[in-house]
Amino acid sequence: MDCIFCKILNKEMFSYKIYEDENVYAFLDITQGTKGHTLVIPKEHIKNVYELRDVDAANIFKVIPKIARALKVSFDPIGINIVSNNELPLQSVFHFHIHLIPRYKNDGMELSTINNYGNTSDKEFNNLVTLIKKNLM
Ligand code: AMP
Ligand code: ZN
Repeated sequence: MDCIFCKILNKEMFSYKIYEDENVYAFLDITQGTKGHTLVIPKEHIKNVYELRDVDAANIFKVIPKIARALKVSFDPIGINIVSNNELPLQSVFHFHIHLIPRYKNDGMELSTINNYGNTSDKEFNNLVTLIKKNLM
């Protein structure tokens, strides 16, 4: 399969491994957005968040706090961003992964929650809730 992360898992490609268990693998992102930027992936080739089963999500997410704490102790960041890009045009490797990005003062990263949607009325919030809940399966 032509997937970089599967190649890493099959040891056809090198990676800077930091953690592994039966279902999950974590390694340093080759592009260190900041010092310690880490990726956590399922060992199974699963394309994106839409394809994760509950058990996959549980297996992956349960190691996130452990790795986040290790990054905190290792690098003393001011905080950490945990993000996952899904589907084109956001995603560049189509094997689900979670980025753990330790943050440092003036690190130049631009990951924060700012209001890009404008002023959201109570009615609009309620419309959003109704729509999303209707589509929860
Ligand atoms: P995304 O753009 O969210 O799909 O993230 C994919 C990430 O994979 C990028 O941050 C890349 O730097 C990273 N990446 C691509 N190839 C490798 C590799 N061989 N080893 C480690 N990280 C990689
Ligand atoms: Zn893969």
